[in-house]
Amino acid sequence: DGATVLITGAGPAGLVLGNLLLAEGIDCLIVERQSRAHVERRARAGFLGAHTVRVLTAGGLAGGLLAAGRQHDTCAFRTEDGEFELVYGERGNGEVHTVYPQQDLVRDLVAEFLARGGDIRFDTEAVALTGVDGHRPELLTRTADGLTRVLSGAFVAGCDGRHGLARTAVPATAARRHHRDHRVSWLALLAAAPQSMAAVAYAVHEAGFAGHMARTPDVTRYYLQVPRGTDPQDWTDERIWSELHLRMRADRYGPLHEGAVLERRVVDMASDVQDPIQYGRLFLVGDAASLISPSAAKGANLAVMEAEILARALTAAVRGGDEKPLAAYSADCLPRIWRAQEFSHWMINLLHGPAGDHDEAVFLRGLQRARLESLRTSRRHQDHFAENYVGI
Ligand code: FAD
Repeated sequence: DGATVLITGAGPAGLVLGNLLLAEGIDCLIVERQSRAHVERRARAGFLGAHTVRVLTAGGLAGGLLAAGRQHDTCAFRTEDGEFELVYGERGNGEVHTVYPQQDLVRDLVAEFLARGGDIRFDTEAVALTGVDGHRPELLTRTADGLTRVLSGAFVAGCDGRHGLARTAVPATAARRHHRDHRVSWLALLAAAPQSMAAVAYAVHEAGFAGHMARTPDVTRYYLQVPRGTDPQDWTDERIWSELHLRMRADRYGPLHEGAVLERRVVDMASDVQDPIQYGRLFLVGDAASLISPSAAKGANLAVMEAEILARALTAAVRGGDEKPLAAYSADCLPRIWRAQEFSHWMINLLHGPAGDHDEAVFLRGLQRARLESLRTSRRHQDHFAENYVGI
């Protein structure tokens, strides 16, 4: 049992890769720990950058997002100094975001993969990976009812995210993982309410950061900065809306559209980069390769970018016998990953100032204010922001 390319994980990375490989006539097999219903309902990202939309469109994978996705070109910043809107679609490369919920994209990609004759095994966990430093890697899998099976392939694409098997399968002597804990946590919320303002608003407030991100006509994502270790259940709907109104300065800019909070969970902002992101015949893609904080909405976009680069490299190897692009996979991806990490890190510092009255906190808040002021007033800074915000 097996395929030329074994893929662990049916998130954006694994599903885009699988679809692109099938289009090239390369057989592949995806194993996914969760059920189909679970991955098709898991709400996460929503902001797709221009490159992502180009890759999906060229791959024949954009039907759903072109029909139902909404284009957004503006974000707003609210601070103690006032509010300013940045029409980033008119800055930088003139690119915009397409807002389309990740779970809808995953649903489209699963349907397309199956329509192309793909083999995807849900409720099947990858539990061990051997032989990636040889020519015939083997993947041990276990189904929900305990059945184990060994799959073999010529290549393995590790697309199983931050808690997956693939990132643990690279020996410590063969790669390093560079990690950063940003010491900031967000309460990530989904509310059954239409958006309250332009697509995205970032509020910088002494009580902590608050964010507003459009998703669909009936659902909006909000974020509230909370202390590390916060129990999401301590936040009632009432407390959430009252805090959002405070930090979004509703007294000055008008009330938010309220609705039931559908989902609340705490995300600790952390990032890591593995270097290199390949080992023998194993290639890491998406969150498995590099975890990125959601501050700049880059994770799903990086996953799609890497999947496309790996699909091209695997095609050259399998169809053309040319393994050079595969050998260069890590070197091709890492500079782009670091650039996205740099921008996300900058966004974290833009949006969060340390609390307190001690010298360093006051100093850092001064820098934060200067950064926001530069973004408000400098055309060149806005161009740079736009290029990095929508692009990879
Ligand atoms: P995943 O989507 O995590 O998929 C990995 C898959 O592997 C999962 O289905 C998992 O069940 C499966 N798996 C795990 N272990 C195993 C195993 N052992 N065997 C088999 N299967 C396994 N990114 C953006 O670009 N824009 C945004 O607006 C944005 N907002 C976000 C908001 C939040 C609250 C969060 C948490 C993330 C956000 N992200 C955003 C990040 C984005 O969701 C991830 O970067 C993206 O899902 C990565 O895709 P992936 O395919 O690499 O991994």
